[in-house]
Amino acid sequence: MTLTEYISALSDNPYFGAGFGLFGLGAGAALLRKGLQGSLILFRRHYMITLEVPCRDKSYQWLLQWMTEKGARQTQHLSVETSFEQKETGHVKTKYDFIPSVGTHFFRYGSTWIRVERTREQHTLDLHMGVPWETVTLTAFGRDKAIYFNILEEARQMALRQHEGKTIMYTAMGSEWRPLGHPRRRRPIASVILDENIGDKILNDCKEFISNPSWYTERGIPYRRGYLLHGPPGCGKSSYITALAGELGFSICVLNLSERGLSDDRLNHLLSVAPQQSIILLEDIDAAFVSREDTPQQKSAYEGLNRVTFSGLLNCLDGVASTEARIVFMTTNYLERLDPALIRPGRVDLKEYIGWCSPYQIEQMFLRFYDGENARRQAKEFAEKVAAFGKNVSPAQIQGFFMFYKHTEPEEVIKNCKLIWEL
Ligand code: ADP
Repeated sequence: MTLTEYISALSDNPYFGAGFGLFGLGAGAALLRKGLQGSLILFRRHYMITLEVPCRDKSYQWLLQWMTEKGARQTQHLSVETSFEQKETGHVKTKYDFIPSVGTHFFRYGSTWIRVERTREQHTLDLHMGVPWETVTLTAFGRDKAIYFNILEEARQMALRQHEGKTIMYTAMGSEWRPLGHPRRRRPIASVILDENIGDKILNDCKEFISNPSWYTERGIPYRRGYLLHGPPGCGKSSYITALAGELGFSICVLNLSERGLSDDRLNHLLSVAPQQSIILLEDIDAAFVSREDTPQQKSAYEGLNRVTFSGLLNCLDGVASTEARIVFMTTNYLERLDPALIRPGRVDLKEYIGWCSPYQIEQMFLRFYDGENARRQAKEFAEKVAAFGKNVSPAQIQGFFMFYKHTEPEEVIKNCKLIWEL
């Protein structure tokens, strides 16, 4: 039998014919699938745009919030984030924010449908935050990347609006800054009564600094400014800085320099990654270092605790350079304990003493608590009586006294002013 005869005999065999047909069908389907896959890849590459946002990115939370608010309202699969919100009255309210859960969601943005995939890695942790690593991927038809810019911008604006009128406090966690508690209502700057003109002087200095970046860049000077507020406790140093931040629309990054585990390197890193438009606040700066009289043994034991060293802090302060205005505030109750190297110009550009109440402050504080037609006269009388004792009094003491006599008539308060020092 020749080969052609053999093949024709085989094709006449119904079993073999069917098998061959099936094989052909299978091969055809595989080819089609491959072709489809290929064209899908090509289609995705040329006619679809994707955006991947990892959870470490600043816009991650904004984006999730925005999607819930705007697009993914209809989605039935949500996860919850509980937060606390402070009302105008100071009352704290619990707030539940629903954000799209892990999985796939769809929403419409303008005329475009967008597919959202939120994925969570089971085995990877974000080492800084200690939470599972997540990503959100947006996929849309089209080639116009502007859609994503618009979405991110809208999300950012929305997040900013939520914090309008609030001051965010950050604290250092590991190598990052994390918001401390819920954003606080801004404290009006007029509610902190410093001696005449001091408050305005600091505020104007800050404003001038912020509005003049070119002065610094043209002269090649790092764009930063340091302030030191010193004076006895309870006189309004911290309160003023908080109010000032609110007035400038800045947040506050609080650093405790005596914290264990805060090494020079970590401090340097933290200062370089501080959120934009924030005041770095180093409180009680005198407490952070060993005094010069300490013995070498004490000094080396101290440095062994992995704390910030004095020279480390000076280097960090000198190195704080950023294109954004960088404002560093330091406070201390004991100016005399500070090393002159720390407070020389360039590190501290403006030093202010925030001291015991002057008669002017006592009067102003009275007026903040009592009004009425005789208030001015009563305020003067109160200030004179308090001053007549010849004793130091802090605004915190006066505030405490007024709060204690909240429901008492002003005349009675004036009469009892001796009790300020006894509460
Ligand atoms: P410091 O930082 O100087 O130790 P704080 O700012 O912590 O003082 O003040 C403690 C308390 O006293 C706060 O509740 C604050 O409202 C009040 N207080 C202190 N100084 C003033 C001031 N100058 N004007 C109004 N309130 C003040």
